[in-house]
Amino acid sequence: MVSEIETAPSECLDGSEGAAHSGTIKAPYHSKKGLQQHLLKISRQKHDGRQMADVMLLNRDWLIPHYAGDRSFDLFDLQVGNAAAKLKGCGSWLLFGRHEKSLDVELLQAQFCQQTYLCLFCQARRAYRNISAYQEKLHELRSRYPGCVLLMATFTIPNTVDLCGGIASLKTGFRKLWDRQKQRGTGPLRGVLGAVVSIEITEGRDRLWHPHMHSILVMSPESKGFISYPELRNEWCRLTGGRQIRIDVMKSENDLTEALKYTVKPQQAGDDGLGLVKRMKVWALLSGKRIRMLQPYGILKGVSEDMPLDLPFDAADYTLFFYRWMFGEFVPGEVDLAKLKSKGKYFA
Ligand SMILES: [Zn+2]
Repeated sequence: MVSEIETAPSECLDGSEGAAHSGTIKAPYHSKKGLQQHLLKISRQKHDGRQMADVMLLNRDWLIPHYAGDRSFDLFDLQVGNAAAKLKGCGSWLLFGRHEKSLDVELLQAQFCQQTYLCLFCQARRAYRNISAYQEKLHELRSRYPGCVLLMATFTIPNTVDLCGGIASLKTGFRKLWDRQKQRGTGPLRGVLGAVVSIEITEGRDRLWHPHMHSILVMSPESKGFISYPELRNEWCRLTGGRQIRIDVMKSENDLTEALKYTVKPQQAGDDGLGLVKRMKVWALLSGKRIRMLQPYGILKGVSEDMPLDLPFDAADYTLFFYRWMFGEFVPGEVDLAKLKSKGKYFA
């Protein structure tokens, strides 16, 4: 199928940059050099977005009959055009702020296209916002439940041609395990107070979809972090036809980042990530379906419900740096807060 697709000229951009910073640059990166590195990463994400837009437009005639589904061809044609245009405009301006006290430089606001299946910049920004929110919540829970243990578990199913069906199977399987724990206090998840699960899409060696689910499980202090691996594995296989589950104790906040950073993993040399065409197909299959790829359970409920990608801020606390995308690079410019406000951005 891939041979039917035309790809835009490639500059061999490193997809791994997609999950890099779209948030705070911690000291010592508050230097001018740190900001330049951050701009370089966003530039790569932006180039990837422009390539993706070209791939979508080049393959429009192929994409529409294959992936329109129950949408009319005209409507889907419009969606393809709009998505490509929004991708090209994404990151056209960036507003950074250096906090007066901490000296951390943060990306405060930007032009976001919010198409996280297609756009590495927006996917990284969404991940940054989610990871920050869950970090804060897990800190709070550790002090509220001293002795609670955090586990990371990865749930898999067999590779599939049916991406939507695979995602549904993962979500339903976990939901059933959770319901048994919640309603009767039984099943392999007994002792779990709360969880956050995150679907990630990669590609198997057989070129089929490999949707899988990362999770962080908050275990009650009484459980001492014990979970019966054979019971969990058997139950998971029975419910989903799945295969492996991997469980580890969460050792650092990097583990949380690993669990939540990708919805659609971009391809790096020779790994299981998705190239431009596959990511375009993910978008064609999933856009408009309102599938929650991140789902909290139990005491983690209420975190990161549709957080905006922009950060609200008080302009008095920051030295602001504004950049505009011009001729393939970010150039510094004057920030006009009143103009940004008129576009729906918000400031204290
Ligand atoms: Zn975007």
